[in-house]
Amino acid sequence: MTVRLRSALAALPAYAPGRTVPGAVKLASNELPFPTLPVVAEAVAAAAAGDAARGLNRYPDNGATALVRLLGERLGQDTERIIVGCGSVALCQQLVQAVAGEGDEVLFGWRSFEAYPIVTEIAGARPVRVPVTAGQALDLDALAAAVTPRTRLVYVCTPNNPTGTTVAAAELERFLDRVPDDVLVAVDEAYREFDVEPGSPDGVEVASRRSNVVALRTLSKAYGLAGLRVGYAVGDPAVVQALGKVAVPFAVNLLAQAAAVAALGAEEELRPRWAAVVRERERVTEDLRELGYDVPTSQANFVWLPLADAALDFAGHAEQHGVIVRAFGGPGGGVRVTVGAPAENDLFLAAARSYPGR
Ligand code: PMP
Repeated sequence: MTVRLRSALAALPAYAPGRTVPGAVKLASNELPFPTLPVVAEAVAAAAAGDAARGLNRYPDNGATALVRLLGERLGQDTERIIVGCGSVALCQQLVQAVAGEGDEVLFGWRSFEAYPIVTEIAGARPVRVPVTAGQALDLDALAAAVTPRTRLVYVCTPNNPTGTTVAAAELERFLDRVPDDVLVAVDEAYREFDVEPGSPDGVEVASRRSNVVALRTLSKAYGLAGLRVGYAVGDPAVVQALGKVAVPFAVNLLAQAAAVAALGAEEELRPRWAAVVRERERVTEDLRELGYDVPTSQANFVWLPLADAALDFAGHAEQHGVIVRAFGGPGGGVRVTVGAPAENDLFLAAARSYPGR
């Protein structure tokens, strides 16, 4: 006898992580290309070496009290407005589970973060993909127009993964004015630390004025903690409480909590790293444009090549030249390339230069 799986899963793709190929440079998962800060490694080691009362033999603090308190101080928010999760992708899933079920709709731009349709379908809800503009930006007018009485959640990803484009604060306000206030809007700011555009919104500030807005942030990117899985959401206490109800217990482990506190405390050491990524992003963008690639301006730690049907071929060519990039097939497809260390970016640019299809 074969186990009966939910029929909805048959058509559901598994989340496909960026591949790691031995010997190749990986520019596929938007990670920070710097080693772990010593102060973070020390905090992890100290947490691991805890005594029998507070060691790895004990479950972690389910409420991540110290981390949430520090985030509250940093963001000027009450702690009841903050929840941490096992990466912000877990919080994306919790958001859907908190507001949507069978027959409900979850809206987002397309392309945008790959996990949005997956977590939506897992909850039995219907993903609604609203195409980005010709310039690869989220089309907030079209998103607002796509809201129906079944819509329960809208993801606004800015800077948008994978296109790198941002929405302006004023544009976001106009959009929010058009969305009914019983529809939750998640402003996903996973890449905000790389955004140098002065007109960009601050999702936490927006959420503090609008009870139907939640800001999502992560320590996986700019804070260099992808390997430990910590993200957080900031919003109305009732929404935050609901996110807690649908969470896997103890989702943020002891070492991750300790590392997150240390990384938040090391922002001054991290800022020059963010600036270096921004400089490299600008260099890579300019060089690609000079080579004839159509590259939208990115405010994230990656760039987007809207290569459509040539995306997989380009990624294969880059791999032959020792660089793993992220190809997305299908409508609106393209290649997303993480900004790495200068030598890694040079290797990628050499591959882009020698690509016969450019
Ligand atoms: N949101 C966006 C837009 C992302 O690109 C990612 C990571 N790819 C996440 C959320 C989730 O990041 P994490 O789970 O590592 O916090």
